[in-house]
Parts: sequence; structure tokens; C-alpha cells
Amino acid sequence: MNIILLGPPGAGKGTQAQILQETLGVCKLSTGDMLREAVAKGSEIGKKAEKIMKEGKLVPDEVMVSMIADRIARPDCSKGFILDGFPRTLAQAVFLDETLPKLNKKIDKVIEIHVDDKALVERISNRFTCSKCGAGYNKKTRPTKAEGVCDNCGSAEFSCRADDKAETVAARLKAYNDLTAPLLPYYREKGILYSVDGMAEIGKVTGEIRKIVAGKT
Ligand SMILES: [Zn+2]
Repeated sequence: MNIILLGPPGAGKGTQAQILQETLGVCKLSTGDMLREAVAKGSEIGKKAEKIMKEGKLVPDEVMVSMIADRIARPDCSKGFILDGFPRTLAQAVFLDETLPKLNKKIDKVIEIHVDDKALVERISNRFTCSKCGAGYNKKTRPTKAEGVCDNCGSAEFSCRADDKAETVAARLKAYNDLTAPLLPYYREKGILYSVDGMAEIGKVTGEIRKIVAGKT
């Protein structure tokens, strides 16, 4: 089973991909992780990507797709793979669809983790982390038990990720809506698009995704 998870940053794609990897025995492919790994290893693609990123440019689609192609040929992907964070544009999706048949692979299902933009901005911008132990909290949904004290280590120092500021989140959402949302009709037309409510609890979202994967919807 080869799956693409679609959804804006903060929708919980990474978390769900991790759970699916563990429960389905498929491999989770996050292009961000793969790039970091390739650069750390100093592979041919890694060197190429590092140079491009150092210049502050975006890694071209063909480099990303060849990195994915290399990765899914490995034995731990024999049961399938989950793509998290790719494709991000229609051009990447088309390119992926052209490349996979050459490897005797195809995308079976595309699962959109649908979110409400406004609620997502609020959810993410309420996140904060313990500066000492890294435990994650949320002002609205997961506050510390005692105000201002980390449940885990008792520290009173907390920080917010720059990424999680409301305006940054809004900008990332806009990029998603502009560039990635057009993939939804593309996959819908192919009859492989499914959607789950990403505003539900993590466990419920996982349950919905598992039903889709099992073909029970
Ligand atoms: Zn702590």
C-alpha cells in the first residue's frame, strides 16, 4: 500500500505517518528527513541538494523524485510507503506519477488531513514547549497541570517555536492553499482521494485513516 498524506503544516501528518509506519509496517518517507539524511551521508544526491540549499534555492523536483525513487527501492519499503510532505505542487505530483510506473509502483491512496484554517492557526499558535526537557503543551488543549510549571520536570521556563507564531502559521497555510491544495482535484479525478477530519483527536484521525487504508470506507 503506497499512500500520500496531504495536509497543511500542523495538521498532524508527521504524527499520523509515524503511527501508520508502526502499525502497517510500511516505510515513512518525509522528504525533509531524507534530505537531511542524504546531506549527512554525503551521497551524490546529498551533495547536490546541499549545494542548492546553501544557495538558498529550492531543491528541484527531479532531485526530490530521484531521492524518493532510491529510497522506495530499499527492502524496508517492500510493504509500501507513506509520503509525508511530498508532493507539494501539481508539477511534483505529475512528475511522481511519471516516475513511479518505471519502478513498478503506483500511489494507491491519497489521504487529505482536512483542517479548518482558523482553528489550525489558533491550535498551533497556542503551542509551547518546556525549555528544559522539551515537553510539549498547548494553552487551550493541553495546559500544564499546575500553571507555569512543567508536568515532566518542574521547570518554569517555556518557549514558543518561531515557526508556531500566528503569522508564520498563516503564511504556511497560504502557501499550502496556493500550491498544494490544487492536488486535491487532481487526485480526486483519479478516484484515489480520501479525506479525514484533522481537527478531531489524534486517535480518532488514526482510526479514520486505518479504515481508509483497509478499504472500509
Ligand atoms: Zn520540562
